[in-house]
Amino acid sequence: MSLATKLAEERRSRLAAERLLELKQAELTAANRKLGRHALALTRQIGETQAEVATVRDENQKVKSELGAAHEKVEIAERRLWHSIQSISDGFAVFDSDNILLGANAAYFSIFDRLEEVAPGISYMRILQILTDEGIINTESLAPDEWRAMMLHRWMQPNPKPTTMRLWNDQYIKLIDQRGHDGDMVSLGQNITSTVEYESKLKKARQKAEAANRAKSSFLANMSHEIRTPMNGVVGMADLLTDTPLDEEQRLYVSTIKSSGEALLVIINDVLDYSKIEADKLVLHPEEFDLERCIHEVMMLLQPIARDKDLPLLLDYDLFLPTRFVGDPGRIRQVLTNMVGNALKFTLSGHVIIRVTGVPAGPNDTASEIHITVEDTGIGIPDEKIDHIFGEFNQVEDEQNRQFEGTGLGLSISRRLIEMMGGGVWVESEVGKGSCFGFKITLDMASGEQPMPPILPGNLKHALVVDDQATNRSILQKQLTQLGIKVTCCASGAEALSNMSPDIDLVLGDHMMPGMNGLELVQTLRNGEWADVPFLLLSNSARFAHNDPLFPLVQGLLQKPYPRHELFAQLAGISDSLGQRGKHKTPEPADPVANAQAPATRSQRLMRVLAAEDNKTNQLVLRKMLKHLNIELKFVSNGIEAIESYRDFRPDMIFMDISMPQMDGKEATLKIREMERKTGSHVPIVALTAHAVDGDSADILSKGLDHYMTKPLQKAAIQRQIESYQPQDAQPVRAAQPTAGQSVQA
Ligand code: ADP
Repeated sequence: MSLATKLAEERRSRLAAERLLELKQAELTAANRKLGRHALALTRQIGETQAEVATVRDENQKVKSELGAAHEKVEIAERRLWHSIQSISDGFAVFDSDNILLGANAAYFSIFDRLEEVAPGISYMRILQILTDEGIINTESLAPDEWRAMMLHRWMQPNPKPTTMRLWNDQYIKLIDQRGHDGDMVSLGQNITSTVEYESKLKKARQKAEAANRAKSSFLANMSHEIRTPMNGVVGMADLLTDTPLDEEQRLYVSTIKSSGEALLVIINDVLDYSKIEADKLVLHPEEFDLERCIHEVMMLLQPIARDKDLPLLLDYDLFLPTRFVGDPGRIRQVLTNMVGNALKFTLSGHVIIRVTGVPAGPNDTASEIHITVEDTGIGIPDEKIDHIFGEFNQVEDEQNRQFEGTGLGLSISRRLIEMMGGGVWVESEVGKGSCFGFKITLDMASGEQPMPPILPGNLKHALVVDDQATNRSILQKQLTQLGIKVTCCASGAEALSNMSPDIDLVLGDHMMPGMNGLELVQTLRNGEWADVPFLLLSNSARFAHNDPLFPLVQGLLQKPYPRHELFAQLAGISDSLGQRGKHKTPEPADPVANAQAPATRSQRLMRVLAAEDNKTNQLVLRKMLKHLNIELKFVSNGIEAIESYRDFRPDMIFMDISMPQMDGKEATLKIREMERKTGSHVPIVALTAHAVDGDSADILSKGLDHYMTKPLQKAAIQRQIESYQPQDAQPVRAAQPTAGQSVQA
């Protein structure tokens, strides 16, 4: 090999070696760079980890110190809590779910008089044992073991009710125990001694007040009895005196005695009622009754006042409203008497009219919502006094008003009574024009049939109504129109005559009219071309009408105020006779009085009435009151005699005084009812009572009496009572001319 070749070869291998070296150097540099980067990353990571460790360490430190602070706070709070619990005067204790005492305050421990055993760790049962064994507790009527059993039973309840314990020293502790979620029991014992003492003082004061109230009530009852009995004598005798020959001056004295006596009784009744309402003693006595009849009774009672003042007192009872309801008729009558009485009192001219309307109410229309209004044309009430008059002892104070007497209690009693019945009272009034007092009550319908308007056969098509009173005309017009009868109204006899036409089937004429009165009108009709038209006379006084020689010319008489069923009966009768006789034949005088009895036949017996009454004055009053009646009246003086006479005399009805010597009226009635049970008979017995305090009526009726009347007795009411029990086989009680006269036995 040449040198050149060798050199070339060597150069080539050196070049190759140099290139390799370069390559390796490059690789080394790259590896170094990578290593450097890695080392840098590691360094950074170490730095970060170190920072994190430092943060965690700081946080740990912070939490630790916060925990310490919190712990300290808890300790302070607990200390404060216990301090507070210790300082409260009520006992406080905590038990665990095994009924072991965990802790309690000083007040709790104090009742145990520093007994060492009573400390945390003691059981509740042991505490109960110590309470009885040491005589700390007054177990009252319970034996110690009964008391512990009772307390333990209570303790075991999920939510024990608070209870009161009495300690040996008459301190009262109210225990309030509350169970926690985990079964712990927190027990609080409040010392309520002062409250108990206060309550007992209050209780004693209340008992004293109630006793005083009872004494007042019984004083009122006695006073009423004591006053009413002699008042019966005074008013009754004064009444009888007016029927004897008296000169002018004597008559004035007698009527003053009578009216003063009656006024005194009204006041006594008002005061009694008011005090009963105040004492919550007034109770309603619902029974089945006839509302229309109840209103009529009020009208009959007040009719004399209306007549004296020449004020027509009218009733407009909705033709289609039922009349038989369930309610307290006595109290409804009282409210109506107050309102109608006021209306008459405060009205000098015009009229007073009672309107009754109603709408069905209650489930299946078994009740009626009834509105009753009393309208007058009197002095009226100023707006600003309207609310005032329903208050106690409140009256409108002005000159015009004060000419009228009164207690100012009537309306407040009426309002309370209606509210007790679940209703409301209202009034509308205009000074100088008149007032309208009204009330609304919902009453259940009584069982059985309701009197409904008759369905007339259709031959009564056109009626002529003659009355000088416009309100009377309009009520009759409304009623007849509702029955399908055409009505022509006239204000006088003369107007009636000029309005007569062949299609008029019936004339209804008022008795007392200025110019030509009703009977003169019928005479003129009979003498002229209207001899056949039936004529129905409306009169305030049936007796007065009867005594008129023209009376036989009329076909029917309605004594005002007449109940609807009497009008219905008269219309039905006239309609029948029209149908039978053909129109406008000479009408036969119909039974002149709607409720007139058939003339007595000689063979009929007298109605037998027995009166048991010990007081001779009252006997005399009753005898005189009934002297015009066609009855056989027998008097006895006590309950024993009443029973004997019930057997021998066989009365058709008995008036029974309640307070009588030997045997009182209630006992006698019970005995009579007992005897009747064997025979199945029932004699009506009406109590005569001077008692006006409530409870009496219920008590009386519960003894088997059918009805009761309070003294002083009213002649008209007592006569009506007898008539209502008249047996069919007896002569009429109120004969036009007494035939047999009254037979009296004593
Ligand atoms: P009394 O009639 O006994 O005074 P009330 O309580 O019945 O008591 O009536 C209270 C007052 O209301 C009456 O005194 C009278 O001033 C007034 N008042 C009641 N009804 C009427 C009426 N119809 N017209 C005018 N004022 C009346």
